[in-house]
Amino acid sequence: MIYLTIDELLDKNTISQSIHMIEERDKEINSVLRIEKVEGNKKGKYYGIPFLVKDNILIKGTKTTNGSKILENYESPYTATAVEKLLELGFSVVGKTNMDEFAMGNTNEHSAFGPVKNPRDLSRVPGGSSGGSAASVAAEYVPFALGSDTGGSVRQPASFCGVVGYKPSYGMISRYGLTAFSSSLDQIGVLANNVKDVRTVTQIMKGKDEKDPTTMDHKIDLTKDLDMDLNQVRICIPKIVYNKNLNEEIKVQFEKAVSYLKQKGAKVDIVDIPELEYSVAVYYIIAPSEASSNLSRFDGVRYGTRKESSGLNKMYRSTREEGFGIEVKRRIMMGTFNLSSLYIDQYFSKATKVRRILKNKLSTILNNYDLILTPTSPVLPPKIGEKLTPLDYYLMDIFTIPANLVGLPAISIPFGNINGLPFGIHFIGKYMKDEELLTIVNRFYEQTVKGLK
Ligand code: GLN
Repeated sequence: MIYLTIDELLDKNTISQSIHMIEERDKEINSVLRIEKVEGNKKGKYYGIPFLVKDNILIKGTKTTNGSKILENYESPYTATAVEKLLELGFSVVGKTNMDEFAMGNTNEHSAFGPVKNPRDLSRVPGGSSGGSAASVAAEYVPFALGSDTGGSVRQPASFCGVVGYKPSYGMISRYGLTAFSSSLDQIGVLANNVKDVRTVTQIMKGKDEKDPTTMDHKIDLTKDLDMDLNQVRICIPKIVYNKNLNEEIKVQFEKAVSYLKQKGAKVDIVDIPELEYSVAVYYIIAPSEASSNLSRFDGVRYGTRKESSGLNKMYRSTREEGFGIEVKRRIMMGTFNLSSLYIDQYFSKATKVRRILKNKLSTILNNYDLILTPTSPVLPPKIGEKLTPLDYYLMDIFTIPANLVGLPAISIPFGNINGLPFGIHFIGKYMKDEELLTIVNRFYEQTVKGLK
């Protein structure tokens, strides 16, 4: 089934084939939490084509666990707008994918339902937090899967699993029905085998939704190429890419991508953007702060598996103590601290100011350049169980976080292998000009990257 695009799958019903593959192969990979079939509109153009959905997106008729014990038995009361639109056109859901608990993490080892194995090397992590979606596409179960991206959770696992991962501009796709982690950063994104399918699926999901006031209308057809070629493109590489003591092999592979682009006529400059140095710090103040507020609803009363105890406060405490895993607790504590009256000025307020400065800086850069280029991740997929500190993990998001802080569209595409492990390069585009980003990246992908597979 793999390498067939959605268009090539039209009129072939591959739903049962997909379910069969999951049943056969996923005992080992663990990327699908549950096979849950929700059929699309039989009259829709895409009827017969299956897809998978990250388990933090609601679909009526499925559970939505968020990879957490606290929501182990939670039944989705309604369907997310993005999924609704796909079902309407005929696509069918075949299951929900594994993820780091509440989308916090980048290895999938923080799922309450066990780690996911990377299909390209079973001893390694698939990335996270949408690792189940990335692994499912890489394992050829489905032509595409939905994920969510708050700081890189679609793009980083795409890079680790050798697939394409795209996070649209903030406001392009409705978040209605996506469990809130950090609402000012979250976006639903697509993982697929090629850029073309990413365009097809996003074109269907995008648009203004009354149920999410942060959505915007976007009139341009994302599936159509604009009149832009690689020889007109101006690309900026932030100097930080070279400061980061990148592993030598990553540097060599990245340089190969740069020289391919130059060969095609693109103008490439290295630009010092010192503000980027602060993006991980800013993210790890803002995201946990918003999360500590968003996750307060999981208290055993309105949501969540209740742990009975004597008295209301004790019941809250034991529910949250037993229901949440270690990383989620760490984030809630950091966020609550950042927002506390004594420290809010020093941390949260300051972080929002730095976020604004970064936004202004990147808009200026993108007045002079069409794209910003970096590796997707500064590291290759670690081994499952490798013991790194939380800070080591947080620093892995250095290249993906800025696009979320500023609301820009960004995409990771596979660019060959390093010692047999997939490697992704990452392009950031202009705000709400996703059509430009996708046109250029698709050209590059079709002309160059496909040949490297
Ligand atoms: N890895 C980042 C984190 O742990 C990003 C997660 C995400 O994008 N959902 O917060």
